[in-house]
Amino acid sequence: MLQSQLFTKTRREAPKDEVAKNAQLLIRAGFVQKEVAGVYDYLPLGLRTLEKINRLIRSEMQKLNATEINMSALQNPDLWQKTGRWDDKSVDVWFKTRLKNESELGLGFTHEEPITSLLKEHIKSYRDLPRAVYQIQTKFRNETRTKSGLIRGREFLMKDLYSFHATRVDQEEFYGKVSKVYQDIFKAVGLGERTYLTFASGGAFSKYSHEFQTLSEAGEDTIYLASDKEIAVNLEVATPEVLNELGLEKEELVPHKSIEVGNIFTLGTRFSSAIGLNYLDSEGKSQPVWMGSYGLGPSRLLGTVAEVLSDEDGLVWPKSIAPFMVYLIVLNSRDEKVMRSARTLYETLEKLGVETLFDDRGLKAGEHFADSDLIGLPYRVVVSEKTLAEEKYELKIRSNGEVNLLDEKALIKLLQN
Ligand code: ATP
Ligand code: MG
Repeated sequence: MLQSQLFTKTRREAPKDEVAKNAQLLIRAGFVQKEVAGVYDYLPLGLRTLEKINRLIRSEMQKLNATEINMSALQNPDLWQKTGRWDDKSVDVWFKTRLKNESELGLGFTHEEPITSLLKEHIKSYRDLPRAVYQIQTKFRNETRTKSGLIRGREFLMKDLYSFHATRVDQEEFYGKVSKVYQDIFKAVGLGERTYLTFASGGAFSKYSHEFQTLSEAGEDTIYLASDKEIAVNLEVATPEVLNELGLEKEELVPHKSIEVGNIFTLGTRFSSAIGLNYLDSEGKSQPVWMGSYGLGPSRLLGTVAEVLSDEDGLVWPKSIAPFMVYLIVLNSRDEKVMRSARTLYETLEKLGVETLFDDRGLKAGEHFADSDLIGLPYRVVVSEKTLAEEKYELKIRSNGEVNLLDEKALIKLLQN
């Protein structure tokens, strides 16, 4: 893409009403725009990044044989009354709206109820189990605190996966697989080293649930981490009894601020019993379906990567989710030979599938460099009179600042990998 065709402008100053680093950088770099607190628009660079995250998640969901759907955000109160979750006293984040005929609808903050109801039509016997269904869909939550930028939105994207089983044992096995797949996802987006499986509160059907917590000073959660054992416990459940049960000593635990990027949960028969999702077992007896739910926030993930992988100059995208691979800068752009060389390189890279943002705006060198660092693509390539004279290109690696002069062959080889 040509930078001159990108309508978004970068900003030198952070917006005054944003305190979170992730939102400040993403807004300055033109990835997102804020509408009101906790509500963001995705601009071309932000949308590309979000879609890369989603693509990566989809390919991991395939490993679980999960199939994708997309359910409506609008929620029927009757269904939620069956599980006791329509009342604002039991769920404090509902957005609700009124139809012209005075009846109410909710904006979904999660989808256990409608997915359970949907599957009633499609699960009849043990032969129809197990099933795993997911969506990447917009959720709404009337959050009170929205100081964390994309990490806590009032409108946000969630990947919600639900699984349906004949037995508890079958769901436990699937739960383990999801846990592994989630860790692969966090690794792939560059958060692997600082994201920990964390014991958190469970429900009526399992003592614990598990969260995936990414260490960050900007986090709103506190976990106790036993780094040698790679286990963490959420502050909320870290009682002496729990630590004892998990074989952890108080002395080996270090408190850390963290961001919950994912959460896996055994639902048991809570929703199936309330909504009537039953199956006939091999003896023809009706049984409630055993369920699990597994959430992960693509937009929170985007915010978290922006928060923890950035530096004082701007964003630092891992190759796996960067909106483009290369930021191509042309200096002395009025020199026809230089411009022709830059254009040819751009066309070559595009042809080879190396996604390139060609900054053809003809600004001062310092402005190009500042924007390149701020936007944070993995590689910066500079074409100038000087590099042309040496028949080389200048390549800078964003993550470590390393700069090298390479000839075309070496450059292309490196970028294609
Ligand atoms: P939190 O404790 O941070 O409010 P939660 O426990 O309410 O999170 P879940 O209901 O488990 O979150 O939602 C599943 C996933 O959706 C979370 O792990 C997170 O990645 C994402 N998520 C939840 N709430 C938000 C939000 N307000 N903005 C962005 N992402 C969110
Ligand atoms: Mg919440």
